[in-house]
Parts: sequence; C-alpha cells; structure tokens
Amino acid sequence: MAENRQDEAIEPVNIGIIGGGKGGTALLQALKDIPQANIVGICDINPEAPAVLIARDIGIDTYTDSGQLILEQSIDWLINVTHKSITQRHILSRELGDITVIDGHIAELIWHLLLDLQDSLKEAEEADNSLYALVWNVIQRIVNIAQPIHRELEHIAFHDPLTGLYSRHMLHQFIEREISHVCRNSLPLSLAILDIDHFKDVNDKFGHDIGDQILKQLADLFKKSCRSTDLAARYGGEEFIAVLPSTSQDASLIWAERMRERVEESLRRPDDEKVTISIGVATLLVDTEANADPSIQVVSDLFFKKADNALYEAKNNGRNRVVTSEISISEE
Ligand code: GH3
Ligand code: MG
Ligand code: MG
Repeated sequence: MAENRQDEAIEPVNIGIIGGGKGGTALLQALKDIPQANIVGICDINPEAPAVLIARDIGIDTYTDSGQLILEQSIDWLINVTHKSITQRHILSRELGDITVIDGHIAELIWHLLLDLQDSLKEAEEADNSLYALVWNVIQRIVNIAQPIHRELEHIAFHDPLTGLYSRHMLHQFIEREISHVCRNSLPLSLAILDIDHFKDVNDKFGHDIGDQILKQLADLFKKSCRSTDLAARYGGEEFIAVLPSTSQDASLIWAERMRERVEESLRRPDDEKVTISIGVATLLVDTEANADPSIQVVSDLFFKKADNALYEAKNNGRNRVVTSEISISEE
C-alpha cells in the first residue's frame, strides 16, 4: 500500500477531458499547474468552447470527436464533464482498454474541488506545493474508491435487472438525442416495439419463473439482433423497444421480420408450443429543407404513439406479425 502511494506520487497521470464548458475550464486551469497531472487532450463538439480555446493557447491538443481523442492519445483517466449519461454510453461503447472513465457526479465533485483549490491558491502568497499534493491525493482517492461505486450504481439505474437490457430511463435519453440528429441530418430513424403474444397464458399455465426464463431468452435474441449503434431496451413487463438509427421503413421491416422469425423458430414453452411476438414499427423522417423546428418532446411522443398504433394493428390482425408505419415531419 505504502509502495503504491509512492508510485502514484511519482508517475504523472495522463488525462483526457471531455466537455469544454465550465467544468472543462476549471479542470484545465487547475490541473495544468499540478505536476502529477498531465493533460493530453480536450474534446468538445463545439471547437470554440471556452476550455478548447484555452487549451489551444497553451498547446494542448483539441478534438471534436471523443473517439479520436481516445485513439490518438495515451490516456489513463478520461474525465467527462458533459454530465450527460448518453455521452458516457457513447464513450463506454468504444474500445477503452485500461482507461478509467470519470463522469457524472464524480467528475463534478472533482472540478468543484479544483475550483476551491484555485481560490485558496489565489489567496496564498506563493504557489503552495503541499496544497497541490493534498488535493491531488484526495482526487486519487475519489477516483479509486468513489468512481467504481458510481459506475455500479449507474449500471443499476440504466439497466433492467432481469434481462440486462437498457431500461426506460436510458431509452428516453437516447431517443431524444437521436431525434435531434434526425432534425439536423434527414436520416431516417426507426422505433420498434415488440410484445410477446398471449404471455399472460404462459405465466398462468407455467408460473412466473418460466415466464421470466422466456423473457431472458427473448432478451438474448433481441440483443444479438441489434447493432452497437442501436439501442435495445426493456420497456415494461413483456414489451421491448429497439431504436434503430439511420434505418428506413424498408430496412426496419427486414430487421423486424428477421427478429420475429428467430423468436418463432427458437423460443418454446414447456408444452413445446411456440412463443411468438408482434412488432409495431414507426420510421421517422424530418424534412430538414422545410425549416421545420419541431419540439423534440412532441416528436418523441408522436413517434412512440405511431409505433404503438402499429403494434396494436399487428395484435388485431392476428399476432405473430410485423406492422410498419412512417411519420414525416415537414413543418410545424
Ligand atoms: P397480447 O398478445 O395481447 O400481448 O396478450 P398478453 O397476455 O401478452 O398481454 P397482457 O398485457 O394481457 O399480459 C402481459 C402479461 O405479461 C401480464 C403478466 O403476467 C406478464 N408479465 C409482465 N411482466 C412480467 C415479468 O417481469 N415476468 C413475468 N414472468 N411475467 C410478466
Ligand atoms: Mg403487453
Ligand atoms: Mg403481450
């Protein structure tokens, strides 16, 4: 332990920062004076963000894509001060190797601590190295002890415990981000709602545990059918949602038909009857030429409603089928 502490003090930590606003600025200005911290790059989608401008001035590499920062620099700690879990999911989906990602409240705690340090240093007559050392030590303890707990709690908050799929909370954040992309780049976005047919029957005949097993098997098939850029979530009891970016109505029909067939072919009840699903799909198109500036919330509600109506139609038309629909936003 004592040896460890010494190592930590000698080896500088290579730090990448994501977010060029208030948090990024505080981190940059305080960390650049701490000898144990070596800032290797900063990233913000806005190349004119305050911290990005400061970084450029003092010769630190700047990026607009976090992937490029990760790829080009050797990073020990990646501090994400954007305070958006969706950014964090985006980062975590990349190949990170040994990088420790520090985000959410832990990142916020660190940059506030560093602001306090700067205030104390302003009052001091000359640079106080023991204060730097003390604050650095506290930061290391936070990263080593509090960050893993934070990561675990976040995992619990964003995942469904039975199936391991994303939960509703992450779904809504993801969909809002994707809708804002669609409003900017005209690419289609599809939303598929899957619902198990006559699932109440399964529970009634074979019990809840068997029902749960089927839910898990379906979730595994579902996960395998989604790409890393898609989002697969459990929406409620026996309802699942897939958000499929850059996917047209035709492409989502192919995806949904394949998913429906896979379930029909491989999922069985204990009495060997097939388990089937119905799928309702909505594809969203926004005409960016028409200067439409729709409210994300309104579009999101319409989008869910459209997919839900398609699911209702699939159920009414006899179940074990896919119904697709399209929603086009051209003006307010
Ligand atoms: P439909 O084809 O119209 O969808 O019929 P259904 O029986 O699937 O629909 P309904 O909505 O009436 O029933 C859904 C059932 O899903 C009710 C409940 O028994 C079951 N269910 C919901 N959540 C869970 C869960 O977490 N575990 C298990 N085992 N069953 C669940
Ligand atoms: Mg249902
Ligand atoms: Mg059902």
